[in-house]
Amino acid sequence: MDFKKKYQDFFDTLHPSHMDEKRFVPAVGSESSDYMLIGEAPGANEVEQGEPFVGRAGKRMDDILSDIGVSRSDLYITNLVKIRPPDNRDPKKEEIEAWAPLLEEEITNVNPEIIITLGNFPSKYMLDTSKGISQIHGRIFTREGQKIMPVYHPAATLYDRSKGPELEKDFRKAFGKENSGQQKLSDL
Ligand code: URA
Repeated sequence: MDFKKKYQDFFDTLHPSHMDEKRFVPAVGSESSDYMLIGEAPGANEVEQGEPFVGRAGKRMDDILSDIGVSRSDLYITNLVKIRPPDNRDPKKEEIEAWAPLLEEEITNVNPEIIITLGNFPSKYMLDTSKGISQIHGRIFTREGQKIMPVYHPAATLYDRSKGPELEKDFRKAFGKENSGQQKLSDL
């Protein structure tokens, strides 16, 4: 997918102050996927490799997904803001507003069965809520007829180990893999 070409109309209208080619990371994955994952913004590793979620948080996410039998190549993975915020600061409101129309176009184009929002920023944007991720993760919401599930950001599981099992549980629910890999006594 030539991302910039595909969404050229958006890039033509994006104010230059919000674009920096050296910090820009496009979405990756299958545009016919049933699953769309939305992160916050790229980090240094992502800029280096030109792909979302390839750093420590991304590896953690890949490990959890592979444990439940989901391959990264079956997904569409994008970010709310597509340039790396300097010094890894949080994205600003005006950055989110500038990049949101592109995300909306991606959603229309991919039209996934379920959108999984990773962490606070994409969850708050997609659900138009001020509620924090710990209050809303793992629940399925509806937005314009599309299912949205907020989950903890994989980076949060690196700092707080108790969030790892929560993220796995929520991913299992989102991907319909709630029982896979777990043998129940009643099945024996
Ligand atoms: N964190 C994000 O939110 N997005 C990435 O692409 C990488 C880390």
